[in-house]
Amino acid sequence: MKSDQSSGREGRPQVSRDSLQSLDEEIRSCNRCPLANGRTKAVPGEGPDRVDILLIGEAPGKDEDLAGRPFVGRAGSILDRCLNDAGIERREVFITNVVKCRPPGNRRPKKDEVEACRPYLKYQIELIQPKVVILMGNAATKAVLDVEGVTSLRGQVFRDMFLVTFHPAAVLRNGNLKEDLVLDLLAARDKAEGSRACHQKREDCA
Ligand code: SF4
Repeated sequence: MKSDQSSGREGRPQVSRDSLQSLDEEIRSCNRCPLANGRTKAVPGEGPDRVDILLIGEAPGKDEDLAGRPFVGRAGSILDRCLNDAGIERREVFITNVVKCRPPGNRRPKKDEVEACRPYLKYQIELIQPKVVILMGNAATKAVLDVEGVTSLRGQVFRDMFLVTFHPAAVLRNGNLKEDLVLDLLAARDKAEGSRACHQKREDCA
């Protein structure tokens, strides 16, 4: 079995990366950081094993903690509407968060919590092999790209794969941001479809 060797922290369980299912099981019983103490259910994420688009938010909220599923609360409703407006089916994407357990009072995850949970996100990206990864909000952008400032970064693509946009919770607070979120999702869809067309063309020409 392959396992995480990257944390280098003694006493921590290693992270299996054979499949999304084994990763899910490990996340649901994980005690790598203090967020395990306050959770009802860990929220690994959901979606098919292989998708073109992977969306990453910040952390589970109250509804997600109870359900064990990502983006099922009010922010989830906004995300569903924006995906729909962009012509993307929720069942065709994978949705997860930077940390898989709810921080107390929905505070932003701390740096050591993000680091403890990082191997799970890393292996999810490796296993799913998305064409586009949508970073929703500052926490996801900081965790993956180590930069912040989503207002100025939104719509930009980094490393030909990571697209920055607003978190749906920000749209809840300011409805004017919805149009930008939908535009970014549309751009992600176009990019994913373009990558698929290029891949198909290469196969046809082979
Ligand atoms: S947030 Fe991540 S690292 Fe911390 S307990 Fe939950 S699954 Fe484990």
